[in-house]
Amino acid sequence: MAEYKTDIEIARAAVKKPIYEIGDRLGIPAAQLSPYGHDKAKISAEFTTAQAGKPDGKLILVTAINPTPAGEGKTTTTVGLGDGLNRIGKKAVICVREPSLGPCFGVKGGAAGGGYAQVVPMEDINLHFTGDFHAITAAHNLLSAMIDNHIYWGNALDIDVRRVTWRRVMDMNDRALREIVASLGGISNGFPRESGFDITVASEVMAILCLASDLQDLEERLGNIIIGYRFDKTAVFARDLKADGAMAVLLKDAMQPNLVQTLENNPALVHGGPFANIAHGCNSVIATRTALKLADYVVTEAGFGADLGAEKFFDIKCRKAGLKPDAAVIVATVRALKMNGGVGKGDLGREDVGAVTRGCSNLGRHVANVRKFGVPVVVAINHFVSDTDAEVQAVKAYVAHLGAEAIVCRHWAEGSVGIEELAWKVVEMAESGDARFAPIYPDAMPLIEKIEEVAAQIYHASEVSVPKTVRDQLKVWEEQGYGHLPVCIAKTQYSFSTDPNLRGAPEGHVVSVREVRLSAGAGFVVVITGEIMTMPGLPKSPAAERIHLNEEGAIEGLF
Ligand code: ADP
Ligand code: MG
Repeated sequence: MAEYKTDIEIARAAVKKPIYEIGDRLGIPAAQLSPYGHDKAKISAEFTTAQAGKPDGKLILVTAINPTPAGEGKTTTTVGLGDGLNRIGKKAVICVREPSLGPCFGVKGGAAGGGYAQVVPMEDINLHFTGDFHAITAAHNLLSAMIDNHIYWGNALDIDVRRVTWRRVMDMNDRALREIVASLGGISNGFPRESGFDITVASEVMAILCLASDLQDLEERLGNIIIGYRFDKTAVFARDLKADGAMAVLLKDAMQPNLVQTLENNPALVHGGPFANIAHGCNSVIATRTALKLADYVVTEAGFGADLGAEKFFDIKCRKAGLKPDAAVIVATVRALKMNGGVGKGDLGREDVGAVTRGCSNLGRHVANVRKFGVPVVVAINHFVSDTDAEVQAVKAYVAHLGAEAIVCRHWAEGSVGIEELAWKVVEMAESGDARFAPIYPDAMPLIEKIEEVAAQIYHASEVSVPKTVRDQLKVWEEQGYGHLPVCIAKTQYSFSTDPNLRGAPEGHVVSVREVRLSAGAGFVVVITGEIMTMPGLPKSPAAERIHLNEEGAIEGLF
């Protein structure tokens, strides 16, 4: 097999344009960009606010089938499609999430695309970038500190220390901090209580930053955060602790979208990065809205498979931000279809048309699901060198039978020239005016029915099992005025069901709800099914062991 360059080798060889030139192509005056070095810049709040009256371009969602543990190339395809649209003469901007530091040092690797479809500078984007995640960490932990400080100075709010739900965060995979006891060491250190750390991307502050429309809205949402409960079980808000103002101050710059470029010098906004399980898994509303004002086509991605990512993109982000997607691309790989067809991880390199065809049931359901939101669909086969013609033909034939098209894309190996066909198809779909976007359930539906609706329509579950305590809790929130919120279901990304080993298109399974949490600031009710990890650990041999600086001082080993 031919030698392939690593992502970082390709990224380092990129000939980047000064960031002002990239901004200029979008009509952003230099004075409205705050440069971070020569190849990254924040777009001022003044500029983003001033775009409000302009018409919107077309919004394209990139989502995927249920993935393999390595990821299916959603980010790679989002970047590739943006480059492809620019290549065929369209004005297109890419909107993706900022990677978290933690997974960079673990197994997954980077999240700035791959091969010849990347956003650069990939080292910066994958590491500290413009400091947004550090700001989010600081804002989150300021609130944590103010809670314990309030308790220390007499606890005038009567906070029940056993019921403080607000934890601490850091942007690192560190399982040792999952559960801790805080305030140890005697009278001068406060009242000991159990607490713990989550990874920064799991912070509600992250979700808030990604859903807030402007700085006022940000501060309001921060104030709405519930930090815990009093002895009488009433909620205590961040605003009760007067933390919202200072948190917003820490997030002022982080709220500004980051402008970078692709390997092919096309504009990309990389901003925000909430988890796709306990949060909604999309880049920021402010970046997407800004991009829609500046370009004719905006390509954005949602995390995990379409059962989680696309559903939340539609039901949470688009619903709340009033966005109307015009087309969706579902990324599939022959490898992941094989896994969905029952092949084990070790056997993915061997041709197996039968398994690919069986696995297509998974793809077929995602196609049908996205159509339920009124959004036209095309399938992108993200081509791997190990894919055979017969396997690719099997996917194309299956998708044709659904009345859609599957297009082979070689952007990873070839850059934009390998994804022209998909770009033309996306233009055709977006311009057709066929999209009739609507969320899958109305705001007014009771919370329990919203969960049942997603489970039935999207997961094909026959039953949702909800303990009485959870039902009662949902009723209480409805009485308190939270009934109109969307639900954010935390579920395994590997299956339509809650069992990660149930691949393909399972029917008639039971979704058991274990717990519900109210993210009152972000504006959704989190519904937890099964074990959800909010602080990942590192693997036995973490990627960090292979990351270092070479003799020239350049970073090596970042995939
Ligand atoms: P996702 O966004 O779905 O998690 P990514 O786009 O980040 O996936 O891709 C995951 C990994 O797979 C990256 O390291 C990327 O370089 C690699 N990858 C993506 N597409 C291909 C391909 N066609 N061939 C080989 N590797 C690929
Ligand atoms: Mg990704």
